[in-house]
Amino acid sequence: MAIDLHTHTTFSDGTDSPTQLINKALAAGISTIGLTDHDSVAGWQEAITALRPGISLVPGAEISCQTPDGISVHILGLLFDPSDTELMQTLEKTRENRHGRMEKIISRINQAGIDISMKDVLEQLSEGATLGRPHLADALVKKGVVASRDEAFTQMLHNNSKYYVAHYSPSPELAIKLIKEAGGVSVIAHPMASHRGRVISLETFGSLIDAGLNGIEVDHRDHSPEEKSQLIELAKQSKLVMTGASDYHGNGKLNLLGEYTTEKAQWLKLEEQASARRVVTV
Ligand code: AMP
Ligand code: ZN
Ligand code: FE
Ligand code: FE
Repeated sequence: MAIDLHTHTTFSDGTDSPTQLINKALAAGISTIGLTDHDSVAGWQEAITALRPGISLVPGAEISCQTPDGISVHILGLLFDPSDTELMQTLEKTRENRHGRMEKIISRINQAGIDISMKDVLEQLSEGATLGRPHLADALVKKGVVASRDEAFTQMLHNNSKYYVAHYSPSPELAIKLIKEAGGVSVIAHPMASHRGRVISLETFGSLIDAGLNGIEVDHRDHSPEEKSQLIELAKQSKLVMTGASDYHGNGKLNLLGEYTTEKAQWLKLEEQASARRVVTV
């Protein structure tokens, strides 16, 4: 009975609805599934409705953060109270800012002579979803500019691309603090996925731990064996929980449900650090 704490649905850049996610997770032998759409809790209700005996839901969100020196950091917030105003307002600000940011990316791509519009991108977005570069990637695929999301990212949309524009994001320390104040726990997602762009230094890691970070996502497709070993060492030294997760995006990425999972003892250690029992079961 596997525990997979990091997945996406059509409420951000995944391609399965929360209902499809729950059904597929159950079929894949997952007993505890984390729903962590980017900067949003909009998929929670549908996921809760879709729950069946045999699978429980860890409600969460993957919060897009940025360090003062411009490094992108993703913090998984799990088991927080979704009525917490400060956290919800921060997520809303990020979601809104993603629209202006998309307009800027599109205008840079247009300047390079590629015809793509905001309308093309919004057509790829499900109702109520957080807008992201994957939707632009899908629009570029539809236009025949690139063959796949992956090709769109490698050729045009990666973090070091000339088209790249950042959006408002809280610092990772602020996100960790807000998650904690909302009663939840925080885990830094794929912290050493170096092929995506710059990653944080050990010093920044220390600052996140001081802010109250609860765990590190160690087992993830984007980590090399060396990166994993470094993270295990760090987690042990700092007494942080170690998680593993798929970061499933449906057809949007190759990642398969349950391809990496969290050990039960680690999960129990993480869960007990939330202010209340917020795992949902039926
Ligand atoms: P954004 O949130 O708009 O900055 O877009 C970043 C998101 O794009 C990440 O969270 C990933 O889910 C997705 N992404 C990054 N690289 C790729 C890739 N090579 N193929 C598909 N999706 C990707
Ligand atoms: Zn994503
Ligand atoms: Fe991420
Ligand atoms: Fe993710």
